[in-house]
Amino acid sequence: MSVIMSLNSGSSSCKFQLYTMPAETVICSGIFERIGLPEGVYSMEFNGSKISETLPLPNHQTAIQILLKLLVDHGVVTSLDDLAGIGHRVVHGGEKYEHSVVFDEEVANDIEMLCDLAPLHNPANLLGYKVLKELLPNTLQVAVFDTAFHQTMDKVSFMYPIPLEYYDQYKIRKYGFHGTSHLYVTQRAREILGEEKSRRLICCHLGNGGSLSAVLDGHCINTSMGFTPLAGIMMGTRSGDIDPSIMAYLAQKEGLSVAQITDICNKKSGILGISKVSSDMRDIEAAIAEGNENADLARKMYVQRVAMTIGSYIAQLGGCDAILFTAGIGENSVPIRQLVIEYISEAFSIKLDVEANQKRRQEVLISTTDSKIAVMVIPTNEELMIARDTYSLYQH
Ligand code: ADP
Repeated sequence: MSVIMSLNSGSSSCKFQLYTMPAETVICSGIFERIGLPEGVYSMEFNGSKISETLPLPNHQTAIQILLKLLVDHGVVTSLDDLAGIGHRVVHGGEKYEHSVVFDEEVANDIEMLCDLAPLHNPANLLGYKVLKELLPNTLQVAVFDTAFHQTMDKVSFMYPIPLEYYDQYKIRKYGFHGTSHLYVTQRAREILGEEKSRRLICCHLGNGGSLSAVLDGHCINTSMGFTPLAGIMMGTRSGDIDPSIMAYLAQKEGLSVAQITDICNKKSGILGISKVSSDMRDIEAAIAEGNENADLARKMYVQRVAMTIGSYIAQLGGCDAILFTAGIGENSVPIRQLVIEYISEAFSIKLDVEANQKRRQEVLISTTDSKIAVMVIPTNEELMIARDTYSLYQH
C-alpha cells in the first residue's frame, strides 16, 4: 500500500487529497485558502473528522509546511516518509508534454518558460513543486498537465488561420485545457457504456471555466479552449470566442491597454458581464425565477454556445454515441442540461429523460432508451487521475 498526494496549487489556494494506492481510497482531503492575504484559512477532512483554522498564511511555503505537519500530527501518515509520491496539477505543458512525467529541474524549467501562456496558473503550480522539493527532497514528484490529453489533435484542428510563421516562432496554436477532467470523464463513459457504444464522445466540462472536447476512440480530436483558457464557450466571467477586432476597437474607444481589455474579457465578461448579477449559475437561476431579463439573456446565450459547440463536434466526429456533462454546472444544473439538450434534440433525435435529469452529482444516464445519442452525467475526478499517474510513475 502506498500513500499518494494530489496537489492543486493556485495563486491563493492549495487543494490536496491523499489516497492509498492501488485501492484508490481517499484518506484525507482539504484546502488552504487566502494564501498571501492578511488572514488565511485551511480545512481538512480525515478519518471521519473535519478540522479548520483561520491563521496567517503569508505564502505557499508556510501553507505546505503546515499541511505536512498536520498530516503527521493527526496520524494521517505515521511519518512523511510514508508519502510515496506527490502529483501536481500543471495547467500548461505546451507541445512537449503528452503525458504526465516525473517532475524534475528540466520539467520545472519548461513550465517556467510557459508561464507567459498561463500567467495565472503555471507560476503557482511551479511554486508547489519548488516548496516540496525543498521540504521533501527525496520524495517523487510528478507533473500532470491540463493540456496533455489534447495533444492528439491534428494540425487541421489545432492551427489558427494566421500567418504560419507565428506558429513556428511563438507556438501560437490551440492547446486546450481541463484535459485531466476530459480524460477521466471519457474513460469512465467507456467503462460504463463499453468501447463499442462510446467510440464518439462529446464531453462538456461546465464549471466556472468551461470547455468541451470531442473524443474519438479515447483520443481527443478537438476542444473548445484554445491558445489560452479564454477561448471557446461563454463562461462565468470569461467571454469565450468573440470577434478579435472587438478588443482593438474597445481599447481605442475606452483608452485602455491591451492588458486591461484582456482582463475585462477574462474577469468581467461571460455570464457576469451579461447578467450583471453574478458569475455563479445558482445566482442566475434564482434571478431568472424573479424575472430578471439580463440573467435570462445570459443563460440563453450560454446554452446556445454549448449547444452549437456540441453540434460542430457531432459534425467532426461523424456522429455521436454519447454526450457527457461534468463539473459544477454540468453535474448540478438541471435546467442547463435540459435547455442544452432541448436545443439540439430535434436536429439529432436526442430525447431527455426529464425525471432522471433531476439527479445531481452522480453518475446517471439522463436520456431515454430510444434516444439516438446517450446523455450522461459523470462527476469529474481530476485528483484521482493525478494520483493514478503519480502512482504509475512511482511503480516504474
Ligand atoms: P471551477 O471551474 O472553479 O473548478 P466548478 O467546476 O466547481 O468550478 O463549478 C463552479 C460552478 O458550478 C459555480 O460557479 C456554479 O455556477 C456551478 N454550480 C455549482 N452548484 C450548482 C447548482 N446546484 N446549480 C447550478 N449551478 C451550480
